[in-house]
Amino acid sequence: MSLASRGLGWGLPAVTALACGDIAAPARGDVYEWRLEAPSVPGPGLDTLSFRWDKSDLPVRVWVEDTDNLPDHVARAIDVWQSAFLYREFEAVLVGDSAAADVVVRGGAPGPGLRMRRLPSALAPECAGATDLEVDETNTELTLPIRLFIAPQSSPEDPGLETCLALTSIHEMGHALGIFAHSPDPEDIMFTDPEVGLPSARDRRTAEAAYHTLPTLTAVRP
Ligand SMILES: [Zn+2]
Repeated sequence: MSLASRGLGWGLPAVTALACGDIAAPARGDVYEWRLEAPSVPGPGLDTLSFRWDKSDLPVRVWVEDTDNLPDHVARAIDVWQSAFLYREFEAVLVGDSAAADVVVRGGAPGPGLRMRRLPSALAPECAGATDLEVDETNTELTLPIRLFIAPQSSPEDPGLETCLALTSIHEMGHALGIFAHSPDPEDIMFTDPEVGLPSARDRRTAEAAYHTLPTLTAVRP
């Protein structure tokens, strides 16, 4: 089953409460909704699922298929997101054994995705990406690994291909660190069809917010 995620809108509460009345509240759109809307159990209704890697999970182990320069693109995506955090809330390393990985990145198109919630992404003409999350029927467990797919859609000579692979790697790694929904703003790397090359200030604030919110999903190793 594939299930497209939708942004839930703007205007989340500020992460830290400000006591001083003179300080303006964060503007609308300061962060965007990053959590995943899913059918609730038992239904009907919707559950809002959130996830962040626990300190004890760090560094997150990432395995990348050696194709289309993906190891380089994903290594850079990890650097970019690590530097988006002030207090090393997220850290990841590339590992050589896919069986020991928390995140698996492959170059092909995703399969049918049984029991998966798929976050479709990056529909630029040069390449495509997707992230699959395996969430249990109680909406409380996220079975690892998280699976990312980043695939060229054009020939290797296409001048836009490397740029597309680079920004799609950052976008999909954004999903893997816990931003499960899309920004409604094209200036953010987590926009459905990203155009910018790096996380915006709002992407970074949203990532920080995700790491200062109690998660509803717990990572489980099979
Ligand atoms: Zn996406």
